[in-house]
Amino acid sequence: MAFEGLTSRLQNVFSKLRGKGKVSEEDVTEAMREVRLALLEADVNFKVVKEFVAKVKEKAIGKDVMDSFTPGMVIIDIVNKELTDLMGGSQSKLAKSSKPPTVIMMAGLQGAGKTTTTGKLAKLLQKQNSRPLLIAADIYRPAAIKQLQVLGEQINVPVFSLGDQTSPVEIAKQGLQHAKDNQHDYVIIDTAGRLHVDAELMEELKQIHSETNPDEVLLVVDAMTGQDAVNVAESFNQQLELTGVVLTKLDGDTRGGAALSVKAVTGCPIKFAALGEKIDALEPFHPERMASRILG
Ligand code: GDP
Repeated sequence: MAFEGLTSRLQNVFSKLRGKGKVSEEDVTEAMREVRLALLEADVNFKVVKEFVAKVKEKAIGKDVMDSFTPGMVIIDIVNKELTDLMGGSQSKLAKSSKPPTVIMMAGLQGAGKTTTTGKLAKLLQKQNSRPLLIAADIYRPAAIKQLQVLGEQINVPVFSLGDQTSPVEIAKQGLQHAKDNQHDYVIIDTAGRLHVDAELMEELKQIHSETNPDEVLLVVDAMTGQDAVNVAESFNQQLELTGVVLTKLDGDTRGGAALSVKAVTGCPIKFAALGEKIDALEPFHPERMASRILG
């Protein structure tokens, strides 16, 4: 289960606080020291932890809280609210173009779950009565096109492909035209990933970007990779101006670092969370629900 370690450590801290009728400044300082360690151990970015703890402390050490009837509970509420804010505050919705089709470009490193997420997103949109078209622009990973076609067939969503001999930029361009000609209201472009961020990959993504002018550029990152996921998001964002992040593999035993740091470090909201390999295991990301889940 995701966040297991973090949740149990935070629960420990809070049960101590809750047990106290009166809470002293020292109690808060001690609790915050433990929260800090719990977050660091969960692989949350160092700077993010520092700022987070400072904010909570500032709000918790005050006459209103100390004199309240249940100070422990009030402090837990403060932590909950700050965790929610850290992950973006409220749900960040998918853009919708006033001039269809809405273009969504998917990016990410190989293995992050980009192709799978492309299929899942199409399924979500289809459930909302949209008519998405998938564009197979990952011509480098063997079987990526086939994988997308199989996903498309599974959910009955068409996949535009020109095989693996045409350039991804050309595929994206023609795919977009095909969507316009066939009244699709969304196109989702599955782009190529690499094992590492490299200049060639970025150049190609930039070209696809300038050719298709996407409404959304979603970066798919593997939550299991913790701080690496955040670093990847930061480097993509510097070059591509992401509009959102999709966190995958939250069903695994991720410690929480990526979920809690990515918004604060990159400024990019998490728009979706993937919680399994199945086609319907994708949901809009709700910071407040995630915070409650982390707090257990
Ligand atoms: P891509 O190289 O980024 O396109 O990655 P794929 O979409 O091929 O996914 C890589 C692997 O991760 C596949 O085995 C997927 O089934 C798996 N995967 C993707 N998303 C999730 C998820 O949310 N949870 C789990 N457990 N596995 C996932």
